[in-house]
Order: sequence, then structure tokens, then C-alpha cells
Amino acid sequence: MSSFYFCLERLKEAFYTLPSVTPKYAAKLASDFIKLPSEARKKLLNELGDAEGSIKICSVCGNYSTEEICDICGDGKRDSSLICVVEEVMDVTSVEEAGFNGMYHILGGRIDPLNKILPENLNIDSLFKRLETGAVKEVILATNLNRKGIATSRYIYNEIKRRFGDVKISHPAHGLSEGSEIIYVNPHTLKEALEERRPFE
Ligand SMILES: [Zn+2]
Repeated sequence: MSSFYFCLERLKEAFYTLPSVTPKYAAKLASDFIKLPSEARKKLLNELGDAEGSIKICSVCGNYSTEEICDICGDGKRDSSLICVVEEVMDVTSVEEAGFNGMYHILGGRIDPLNKILPENLNIDSLFKRLETGAVKEVILATNLNRKGIATSRYIYNEIKRRFGDVKISHPAHGLSEGSEIIYVNPHTLKEALEERRPFE
């Protein structure tokens, strides 16, 4: 194999590390990258390098941030007695578009024992630490309405009930169908589901 093809293979592998990129798409990205003028390639690499250097994880909620604490956690105008628990950072965007004005807690995934993802592998313990202050009155469990999402909410519900009996626990079930993923629910439906949220039982 020539050194150029070796270089191309490494590029493909690098693009393939992005979760939504298929092998075929990785090959297309590698080819697009090679075809760019040298200046454009350098600019892209600089942007990637800058992003890498400034991406942090918010120490409170687990959201991405350029600071130690994200914009949402640092916003004193939001309702800090209400925490909406979601699976992924992208879910925050959907809930924000639905007009939610409380705080968030991002789990970074869902409990999935078959793939060795246990509660301790997710950002769950820090949620319980936030509840220890007593300032949080309600937790909305907005995981996806599929089997793993519901099992994750069930685990968190049981732990909160056991440790913090007086915290209200709800979920945005109203108008959402079984299998719904928060990221794909339209903002209007999600807004209604959040407003008409029901006790998690
Ligand atoms: Zn935060």
C-alpha cells in the first residue's frame, strides 16, 4: 500500500470515530478533506483544535460548556428548584425549544446492562448530590420513552424515593407516544407534555 493510501485509510478511520458516520460516509469525508485547498484544510484543522481546547463539561449538570459552569446553570433567572433529567446533551436543545425554564441534568446515556452501561457509568450520582442541598423541589424524568430510557428513569425514581422522599418526581408523558425520543418530538408537543407532566409512578 502506498503511503498516500495509508494516509487515506487513517483519515477514514479518524472520521469513522464520529458515532453517526458510517464507513461509506467516512470515506466520503476523507475524500472531501483531501480535495480541499491546503488553506481550507488548515482552517478546518485550526477550528477543530480550538474547539478541542475549549470544550468542557459543566461540573453541575454535565452539559457541554466553554466554562467550568454552563450558561444554563449560571443563569440566575431560571427556576433552580426544578431539574429536567435528559439522556443526552442534544435533548437539552429540544427541551429549551419547548420553552422550559428550569435546570437540567444530563446523564450521558441510558442504563444498558447488556452493553455494560451501569448506573455508575452515567452522570447519575451527581444528580443525587444536587438533591442533597434540599433546594430542588421537583425532578422531571425526560428520558426517551423506549425500554432503556424508561428503565433508566425507573432506577432514578427508585433511588430518589429512597433517599429524598419529599422531592416530587414527574415525567412528560402527556401526548407522547410509546417509543418517543425527546430529540424528535416537536417543540409544541413537548411544551404541552412538560406543562401537563404527570407524577412518575
Ligand atoms: Zn450546567
